[in-house]
Amino acid sequence: MEVIPLDVKIFDTTLRDGEQTPGVSLIPDEKLRIAIKLDELGVNVIEAGSAITSEGEREGIKKIVGEDLSAEICSFARAVKSDVDSALECEVNSVNLVVPTSDLHIHHKLRKTREEVKELAINTTEYAVDQGLIVELSAEDATRSDLDFLIQLFREGIDAGADRICACDTVGMLTPEKSYEFYKKLGELDKPLSVHCHNDFGLAVANTLSAIRAGANQAHVTVNGIGERAGNASLEETIVALHSLYNIKTDINTEMLYDVSRTVSRVTGLFLQPNKAIVGENAFAHESGIHADGVIKKAETYEPITPELVGHKRRFVMGKHVGSHIIKKRIQEMGLRIDDDQFKQIFTRIKSLGDKGKCVTDVDLQAITEDVLGVMGEKVVELEELTVVSGSKVTPTASLRLLIEDKEVLEAGIGIGPVDAAIVAVKKSIKDYADIELEEYHVDAITGGADALIDVVVKLKHNGEIVTARSTQPDIIMASVEAYLSGINKILSTEHVKNIREGDL
Ligand code: MN
Repeated sequence: MEVIPLDVKIFDTTLRDGEQTPGVSLIPDEKLRIAIKLDELGVNVIEAGSAITSEGEREGIKKIVGEDLSAEICSFARAVKSDVDSALECEVNSVNLVVPTSDLHIHHKLRKTREEVKELAINTTEYAVDQGLIVELSAEDATRSDLDFLIQLFREGIDAGADRICACDTVGMLTPEKSYEFYKKLGELDKPLSVHCHNDFGLAVANTLSAIRAGANQAHVTVNGIGERAGNASLEETIVALHSLYNIKTDINTEMLYDVSRTVSRVTGLFLQPNKAIVGENAFAHESGIHADGVIKKAETYEPITPELVGHKRRFVMGKHVGSHIIKKRIQEMGLRIDDDQFKQIFTRIKSLGDKGKCVTDVDLQAITEDVLGVMGEKVVELEELTVVSGSKVTPTASLRLLIEDKEVLEAGIGIGPVDAAIVAVKKSIKDYADIELEEYHVDAITGGADALIDVVVKLKHNGEIVTARSTQPDIIMASVEAYLSGINKILSTEHVKNIREGDL
């Protein structure tokens, strides 16, 4: 692979541009939590917010500054003295000093002239530099600005002491080709140069990569690509493309990418589409069939990068079209041994879940297999019928019909909830057969979502001995009852066998 000897810095603006996402507002502690993660991740600059905005915003920035992180802490500032003063009050290391440079913004938004805007930019840069701040002079809407004017403004800004310059594609109008030409030109100013791209056409990452190829040495990005409108260039996509496709290294610890993405998603309440590159839930998921088969044989067949590189997990999803050989192979790889009868049961259960619209993941498969392995053997007690009533103004009640050694037993129970009521009914119905106590009850939703498979593990005590049993079902009450019955069957079938043996003697 061609090695491009570039040292690219990552300027993260999740807490500023990202926070400008419609509907997102972070409290100081949430900002701090994300900043700590970003620092661990290895970003070079954290734009913590815009200090002039509010008291709460300043509190958040101050908290981040107080943490003494390795990253440079930056505040957004307009070319206004009071903005710089607010940043100074927060004791940040740097300001992202933003001035609009397109005529559209200068005339219609600011109602000023080019000369006036340039003068403001220069004066504010000088002021911030004098106060000891690192200054990144950013041109807003740079890509729709008159190039000569833009270059002139940057030249004078650099003369005034700006440490870095940044050209923003504020409304995402660049193409990868235009981006290359544009940043190549700005690179001639021979000053650290940032690229800042928006994703209105879905090209933010592509344009960022082009700019870096042209000589930009710092990329403005946000985690999960959040930001105004369609968002900014996504940090994780930019980083992994740089590392894996361009062989350009950054200081980012890629193995933390998935974790950081999840943190930002939870804190901001902005959930990701499953097919989001790098960090989406399906980024390393393989549906049954040819792809899953290929990945099992050799991961590279359908995985351009490993999930480990970004701290994600590989998943196999088995739908109703799944082939039996794949299921067999996966079970074998889990180190579980099954016979043909057991396999038939597992296969039937996966197909019937598939018919109910549920896709089975690897973890589900393991639970189902263990379940089938656990309930094999003679069934002394069998559930014929179960009815549970529960709600807001009703006493949770369960009635059931069991076959115990081929004898029909009808019983009912009430409890504090539907699961409890069902277990009470089961206990009552078997009280003549064995004295069994429930020692432990543990419930787990295996996969996320309300349609997750429920895994129930119970520990039952009988004659001083503990028996563990489990059941995995889409229904929590059924899973609980089946786990309980499975444990009872384990106990009674041993008893049963013992009795027969003793009778033989
Ligand atoms: Mn922006």
